[in-house]
Amino acid sequence: MNKEIEQLIKRQEAVSEEWRDKLIGVKQKQFVYTGIYGNLIHYTLQCNTERIRSTMAKTGAVASPDKCRLCAENRPSDQLFVEWQAKKSGNSFDILINPFPIFPSHLTIVSKTHRSQTIDARDMQELAFYSRMAVFFNGADCGASIPDHMHYQAAPVECFNIIQDVEELNKIRAHTTNPGWLYGIERDVIRLITSEDDDPSSYLEHIMEVIEWKNDRMLNVLVYYDESSSHFCWYIFPRRLFRPACFFEENEEKRRLVSPATAEMCGVIVTPDINTFENITREEIHSIIYNS
Ligand SMILES: [Zn+2]
Repeated sequence: MNKEIEQLIKRQEAVSEEWRDKLIGVKQKQFVYTGIYGNLIHYTLQCNTERIRSTMAKTGAVASPDKCRLCAENRPSDQLFVEWQAKKSGNSFDILINPFPIFPSHLTIVSKTHRSQTIDARDMQELAFYSRMAVFFNGADCGASIPDHMHYQAAPVECFNIIQDVEELNKIRAHTTNPGWLYGIERDVIRLITSEDDDPSSYLEHIMEVIEWKNDRMLNVLVYYDESSSHFCWYIFPRRLFRPACFFEENEEKRRLVSPATAEMCGVIVTPDINTFENITREEIHSIIYNS
């Protein structure tokens, strides 16, 4: 992790108790599923009641800027930030600690201006290099809880099960197509490898053209910088549906309150609901992600 961000986290935690130990009391369980090549697929299930806003958020809701929780003037006065500007696009962001984290060191990277959620892969690549964390994007209709104010998120690379699972899968069955659909990880995901000199936006546009994807509203994307190969590794999830049928199940016992976004597609399943946490099975989790 970048030093400036490390310092930001320390300074924010020193402000008050409110900003410390946010994940204490959050329950987690691990699930392991065996893929078609005998490879292991890991899911972490997290019960996080603070996440109720994002799990239950209405999709496509538009708030006026004077009520927007990501605009600087409406943020808590004790929420610190680091300013960051992308070199190629010139876009400016405030890097903040996420007040409702899923991960330790979970960041929200918020556009300085109130503009709608649109991906700029160049910004993501630069952010991944600068932060040395995994940077992710939730499309407006698949996980962005405030889609009218552009933001990315970031967390340590080791938090995302898919990264390790793909590394292990590659030992069994090397994946060489770039960009290409990843087989064996049992969800719709395209992997892309880029280097610092590449323009990832043109790759992303090309991918979207090939899969006939009109816009980024139903797209989850994660990128991190792999120090050992000096390349950027992207996971691109074109989403078929945001919420699974079991989310709307009338029988409360069978209802599963999971709204898959990038974290879930990468193997970290968050639910604010204790019934879901206690009763969801490995097969149900796998099926939700497989069909998303
Ligand atoms: Zn805003």
